Amino acid sequence: MEKIFGIDLGTTNSEIALFGKDGKAEVFEIENGMKYLPSVVGVDPSANIITGIKARNQLAAFPENTVMSIKRKMGSGEEILMGGKSWSPAAISAEILKSLKEAAQRQVGFPVEKVVITVPAYFTDLQRRDTLLAGEMAGLDVVRIINEPTAAALAYGRKREEHERILVYDLGGGTFDISLIELEDGILEVAASDGNTHLGGDDFDMILMEGLISSLPEGAVSTDNLRSRARLKSVAESIKVKLSTRTVSDVREEFIAMQEGKPVHLEKKVTREYYESLIAETLDETFDLVDSVLKSAKTRAKDIDKVLLVGGSTYTPLVFNTLRERDFEVHREIDPTYCVAIGAALQGAIIAGEDVDTILVDVSPHSLGIRALGMRFADVDDDCHSIIIHRNSPIPASMSRTFYTSVNNQREIDIEVYQGEDPTASKNTFIGEFMMDDLPRKLPCGSEVDVTFEYNLDGVVEVTAEERKSGKRQQMRVDINRLDESLDYSPSEPVGVES
Ligand code: ADP
Ligand code: MG
Repeated sequence: MEKIFGIDLGTTNSEIALFGKDGKAEVFEIENGMKYLPSVVGVDPSANIITGIKARNQLAAFPENTVMSIKRKMGSGEEILMGGKSWSPAAISAEILKSLKEAAQRQVGFPVEKVVITVPAYFTDLQRRDTLLAGEMAGLDVVRIINEPTAAALAYGRKREEHERILVYDLGGGTFDISLIELEDGILEVAASDGNTHLGGDDFDMILMEGLISSLPEGAVSTDNLRSRARLKSVAESIKVKLSTRTVSDVREEFIAMQEGKPVHLEKKVTREYYESLIAETLDETFDLVDSVLKSAKTRAKDIDKVLLVGGSTYTPLVFNTLRERDFEVHREIDPTYCVAIGAALQGAIIAGEDVDTILVDVSPHSLGIRALGMRFADVDDDCHSIIIHRNSPIPASMSRTFYTSVNNQREIDIEVYQGEDPTASKNTFIGEFMMDDLPRKLPCGSEVDVTFEYNLDGVVEVTAEERKSGKRQQMRVDINRLDESLDYSPSEPVGVES
C-alpha cells in the first residue's frame, strides 16, 4: 500500500509524521534528537542553503541571509531577499519541506513522495495554492491540503453518527488560531474561526525577557544591545519551557552584559507564579477571542463538547487551567506540538485506504492529586482534591504544583495521594501517603512546598515534596498497575529524606 505522509508546515516549527500499522503515528526525528524543524531558512557563508537549528543560529549574526516565519508571506507574491538573491515565499517554504522529506526518508528507508500538508483555516485560495507550489518545488506530490484545526480534531478521532462541537485552541510561536469544528456523520467541518496572527509564544519570551532585564541593575542592557537581548530572549524561552512542568526555575547566566567596564551576571529564581502574572494580560486576549468565535457562531460555552489544545504554547499550565475554570472539557492527550502533523498523517492513511480511525496514545486514565487545604463554597475545607496530573495527560508526564504551609512553625506535612475525579479528596481512591516530617524550624505560615508527580510509562508514580527555602525533600513511589490489581494495597513506605 502506498504511504502518504502528513506535514505540519508551521510558522515557527514544522513536523512530518506517518501513520503506522500499530495504530500509532510516528513523528520523525529531524535533528539533534528533536522531532520538529524550526521553520527557518538561510544561506550560510559558503552559499549553502541551510534550514532548522543551523539557520536559526545564524539569524542574529546574518539577518540578511536568514528568513523566518515565511508562512506569513505565502500567497503574497512578495519577493524575499535572502543571501543577495530574490526568492519567492514558495521557494523558501520548499526548503523547509525538503528538509522534512529528507529526514523522514533517512528513517523509513524509502522515498517520501505523497504528502498531506496542513494550512490554517483562514488561508485563502491563493495561500493554499502557494503551499501546493512549495510542495511541488520540493519534489512532493501533495495529495491534499487540509485545515490545521481539522487535522487536530481528526487526530482525536471521529466517531460516526455522532454530533460533536469541538473548539480547537491553537497557540503556537507567533500565531493564535481558534476554530469551531462541527463533527456530523463522521465529517469534520470548520464552522467558524478567528485568531491573531501576531500573538504567541514569542510574545511570552519577550515579556519574560523584559522582566529579566528589569531585575538587572538599571541600564545594564539597553534597548540597542542586540547581542545581550538575543541571549536573554533564548534564556527566557528555556525558563518558560521549564515552568510548564516546574514551579520554579533557577537561572544563572554569567557575563550577560558589561556596565561601566564591569561584567553583569544574571542570577535569579523565576517562579511560575511570577511568570504567569507577566503573561496573564496577553493570554487573556486569546480567551477574548474564544468568546468572540463562540459569539459569531451563536454558540455558548456549554454547547461545546470539548476543547483541544494544540501548539507548543499550550503546555503552559495557565492555558489549561483557565479554560478548565471556564468549565470547558479540555483535552491534550495528543502532544500539542505534533497533533496537527499526526492528524495530517492520519488523513494520509485514510486516503491511502488504510483501515484506520483513531490513533492510540498512552494517557493517564485518572487524575492524580493530593489532599490539601483549600477554599470551597467560601469555606475552608481540608479535604480538597488538588490535582497535579490531570486525567488524559499523555504519559510519561511530569508536573509540579506549589502548596503552602498553613500555620507558623509547621513541622510536618502529610502528603496523601489520591486518584480520581471527585473534588473531595477522600471520595477518590487513596493510593498512598507519606509524612514530610523534617521541615526546618521557625517556618512561617505560607512557606512554599513544591509537590512533583512523575508518572512513567510502566505505571510508577514518583511523588516528591520539597520545601523550597531549605531544599529538604522527601519522596515516595507508587505502582499504579499493582494498585489496580489488588484492592487491599497498602501504601509504600517513604523512601527517606534527602536534603
Ligand atoms: P507553530 O505551530 O506556530 O509553528 P509550535 O506549535 O511548535 O509553533 O509552537 C512553538 C512555540 O511553543 C514556541 O514559542 C515555543 O517556545 C513554545 N513552546 C514549546 N514547548 C513549550 C513548553 N514546554 N512550554 C511553553 N511553551 C513551549
Ligand atoms: Mg502550528
